[in-house]
Amino acid sequence: MLFSEVIGHANLKANMIRNAKSGAIPHAQLFLGLSGSGALPLALAYAQYLHCENPTDKDACGQCAACNKSRQLIHPDTHFTFPFIPNPDVKKKSDEKPVSADWMGHWRKFLESHAYPDVYDWMDAMAVENKQLNITSAECAEIIKHSNLKSFESKYKVFIIWMPEYLDKEGNKLLKLLEEPPADTIFLLVAEDEKSILATILSRTQLTRIPPLAEGDIAEALLKQGVPANQANQVARLSEGNYRLAQDLLHTNDFGFEQLLIDWWGIILQNRKGDFVAFADQFSKLGREKQKYLIIGAISLLRQALMLQQMRQPSALWNEQEQAVCTALAQRLQLKQFERIVSLLTKLHGYVERNGNTKLLGLNACIHIARIING
Ligand SMILES: [Zn+2]
Repeated sequence: MLFSEVIGHANLKANMIRNAKSGAIPHAQLFLGLSGSGALPLALAYAQYLHCENPTDKDACGQCAACNKSRQLIHPDTHFTFPFIPNPDVKKKSDEKPVSADWMGHWRKFLESHAYPDVYDWMDAMAVENKQLNITSAECAEIIKHSNLKSFESKYKVFIIWMPEYLDKEGNKLLKLLEEPPADTIFLLVAEDEKSILATILSRTQLTRIPPLAEGDIAEALLKQGVPANQANQVARLSEGNYRLAQDLLHTNDFGFEQLLIDWWGIILQNRKGDFVAFADQFSKLGREKQKYLIIGAISLLRQALMLQQMRQPSALWNEQEQAVCTALAQRLQLKQFERIVSLLTKLHGYVERNGNTKLLGLNACIHIARIING
């Protein structure tokens, strides 16, 4: 992937290029950001830049043999580690343990269709539901083994470790390597949740926070994709700097997302308990993805309401009905209540993602949020 194909983050890209040009590349870096902010695409572009035979001041050349291999994710000096379960289609000798590489074929196809993936997309791609993914001890041994080999074609050996959150205690095997890797060996760890990473790993990596994307950058990317300007702006505004979410939101117009969102807040604000079950019923029929958008929409609206309350600035981008809900929330909620509801909705989002009983979840959410608001 080229830097030019990664949305936004001009400063971060410039930094990476500066480091690469100077040869002073931190040998263990942690890119921390939500999947939709582009931490993984940045790591892929960085690896390609490091391998490229004719890099410019702005990007890899995109033409050389190394770039071709990087684009196809077959560069022999880029090693991928990601969470996995044993691949049932890969036969192993009795002394061989499953490793990430058993899934490389799936991984390549996966990244072709998911430029801004998260771990749930990856679970879908491996067709493993409700199984515990892991980055295993054997995979750590594999990393150590490869790090001791000479690079094949590039000056650098790059190890991209996606979702180091899945490294359990076995991750401690890597500490020495992260601390003192062989020359020209670069580790790029790509994570979403700082709290779930081993402290011993965190302390040995240089942290780069990948912030949410600018709304304008998302809108521009959507325009390039051929999305009409109106819709691109609206989706960019709702997506909160998350391109992955923006992609999802593109498909929401077909289920009356905005009206449902207004209705949901309406029954809660008015504490219309009799309508909770009907809402939960409607919610449960939406399907996982749409349920997630609705929850994110609800959080987004809540944030707008908080902005309105704190800064007294209504957002010009919201329509009249949304403004009315924002105003009502801003008038009635204290900061603590905002926090409790956002936390509750965030949990709900997690439950939905893990395929909970969504009718019950929807009902519970209504009851609890109404209780927080109405006492
Ligand atoms: Zn190149």
